[in-house]
Amino acid sequence: KPDMIERFVGRLAGSPPPPTVHALDDVSLEVMKGEVVGLVGESGCGKSTLGRAIAGMLPISGGVVERQGRDIASLKGRDRMEMRLRTQIIFQDPMSSLNPRKTVRQIIGEAPRVHGLLPAGGVDALVADLLARVGLDTAVAGRYPHQFSGGQRQRLGIARALAVQPDFLVCDESIAALDVSIQAQVINLFMELKRDLGLTLLFISHDLSVVQHISDRVVVMYLGRIVESAPTDEIFGPEGPRHPYTAALLAEVPRIDRRGHTFSTVKGEIPSPLSPPGGCHFHPRCPFAMDICKTTRPALKDFEGGHSAACHLDGGAGLRAIKRNTSND
Ligand code: SF4
Ligand code: MG
Repeated sequence: KPDMIERFVGRLAGSPPPPTVHALDDVSLEVMKGEVVGLVGESGCGKSTLGRAIAGMLPISGGVVERQGRDIASLKGRDRMEMRLRTQIIFQDPMSSLNPRKTVRQIIGEAPRVHGLLPAGGVDALVADLLARVGLDTAVAGRYPHQFSGGQRQRLGIARALAVQPDFLVCDESIAALDVSIQAQVINLFMELKRDLGLTLLFISHDLSVVQHISDRVVVMYLGRIVESAPTDEIFGPEGPRHPYTAALLAEVPRIDRRGHTFSTVKGEIPSPLSPPGGCHFHPRCPFAMDICKTTRPALKDFEGGHSAACHLDGGAGLRAIKRNTSND
């Protein structure tokens, strides 16, 4: 599809010594230009790995990462560098990625200078423009990272990422370390940047409620697999999710007017990705698990409205029949 800018299919390249961890197991993800995809799951589910693989930071085997139809692994030289620059990752802890001995001006200006991306006005013009764009006073250009609050540092990290003119941001738990009130501000900033710069965002979070307000679509991962993908409105709408794992995550989101079948939390620990349970990986924790779930991996099935889910319930239609029966009681 011409407007499809990101396509990922595959497994993570295993390092030679066994055991090989398939951190990503037949994952396929397409992100459309200008879309905000919320990628959700507990820690260890492979969402950060997927984000890094998409950004070209991790080698993959048996798969492909495409940008606008081009396999990024096949790019060489300047093409490869340009592609790398166009996808930027915003991490959880900006402090660990901001050099404490460099000023804001140096931090933001470095990559554009190295890559020949400075505007006519030079570093100062670029830095002033980017600081204003992320909501910081341009007078702070001479300061050092430790002189900023956590929220301000995350804004600096965003300004630095924007300095190389990316069109795709992978936000990996970018607001998880911030106070709740600051989280909302930074989410608003991402929304503004998306609108003003036409950015595409992959917004990675362990918290489903965080992605609700920013994402057009929610993709849920569990132990290296995508278990559900749907428009955000549908996941949070009256019909809700089709996959029990998503429903469990959703039940942890405080809600006022919820109807139908819910359970309060995901029971048990997430199993080791080294030896994931057979069949449906979620079966040891699933309140609906059946015999088939222990032996047979459920395929990711497509439903109407751009919704897909991998679950044996209801002949593969997921939670919907159970919810209908429950609310008819
Ligand atoms: Fe639960 Fe079975 Fe569906 Fe897996 S396939 S989520 S174990 S009902
Ligand atoms: Mg992570």
